[in-house]
Amino acid sequence: MSASFTSPLAEALAPGLLERFDRYARIGTQARRDRTQSPSSPGQLELGRLLVDELLELGLADAAIDDDGYVFATLPGDGPVIGLIAHVDTSPDAPGDGVEPIVHRGYDGGVLRLPRGGTVLDPEEMPELRSAAGHDVVTSSGDTLLGADDKAGVAEIMSAVAWLVAHPELPRPTLRIGFTVDEEVGLGASRFDVERFGARCAYTIDGSSLGELQDETFSGWGVTVTIHGHDVHPGFATGKLVNATRLAGQVLVALPPELTPEATSGREGFVHVYEVEGNAARTEIRAIARDFDDDLLAAHLATLRRVAEEVAAAEPRARVEVVARPQYPNMRRFLAGDPEIVEKAAAALRAEGIEPVRTAIRGGTDGSMLSEMGLPTPNLFTGGHEYHSVREWASLQEMAAAAATIVRLAQEWAA
Ligand SMILES: [Zn+2]
Repeated sequence: MSASFTSPLAEALAPGLLERFDRYARIGTQARRDRTQSPSSPGQLELGRLLVDELLELGLADAAIDDDGYVFATLPGDGPVIGLIAHVDTSPDAPGDGVEPIVHRGYDGGVLRLPRGGTVLDPEEMPELRSAAGHDVVTSSGDTLLGADDKAGVAEIMSAVAWLVAHPELPRPTLRIGFTVDEEVGLGASRFDVERFGARCAYTIDGSSLGELQDETFSGWGVTVTIHGHDVHPGFATGKLVNATRLAGQVLVALPPELTPEATSGREGFVHVYEVEGNAARTEIRAIARDFDDDLLAAHLATLRRVAEEVAAAEPRARVEVVARPQYPNMRRFLAGDPEIVEKAAAALRAEGIEPVRTAIRGGTDGSMLSEMGLPTPNLFTGGHEYHSVREWASLQEMAAAAATIVRLAQEWAA
């Protein structure tokens, strides 16, 4: 066995896995924020249909894509019904069409200069890349993202299922495969039919570094602060104009700088203003609030509301509206009562020779929503890194370790 693989199983899975990953990555499946239908882009349907064809070819006879673009399929076995989930869409935050993966075989640990866009991957700035020296590193050609988020997860599930089909002697429970759409615009679980999926629990394969096992995400709220001023022609504005844009500026300045994403880390939450739009008559401040702790999250929301109301109070002719809505919950509360779900994943990782890395995700996953909807769903690593950027890369050895972990997870759940 080559030293950089976690097991002979991972090494055996690697060639087919790379072939699948390359095939899926080349299909443009970027999600669109201005979604008018599900899925938000036709490429997601194209990849979904390809996956159905490949699942049917593997003998998963019920493989099908529904009207919203979700692909479900079943691999029968003995034991409970366990779900495996990945998303087919890629992030709208970097160019995602025309992806041409490049495999840097036996990466030497140095600077990687990609052929297009002047993109450079420097291990000095990316410690995880440095630790992938000796691996087969996959990048884009420099002017697009790679789409390992989450086509690595898709390819790992497909490879593990293909392996189990080819090795009927290996124990497995009944596996339910679910490929979702539009995860990157926060809608991956929105039309997921948990009842029809019919699993006891599931795992998203949508993390990053080797060994990650995540059963905790942020709880997230979205907040819109709307400031209504009073617009008057500036030539006649004396004593009359109430400028909503300037009041919005006061709100931004009054928000605590220590409560921002750039000033927090680890288990600290934040308030993040991501967009401001408006004019003298009306200006909207769009923000998100995040925390692992619901009481602290409520405090962040209260801070934003108080700041907005104080600014409004100093200018009685202005009017301020604050609308907050929940986006996704911390999955921990739904998993805490059923520790077996995380324990089996930890056992599968150890069986693959990997020490589980228990981290809390400073974001949400499909699993945050699915857990709340009644399908407890922690998250496992994929071996992809630097997501949502043209510097995105993946280690074939880590991807193979993820696929092998899925095969071992099946063993853990088998009756
Ligand atoms: Zn993802």
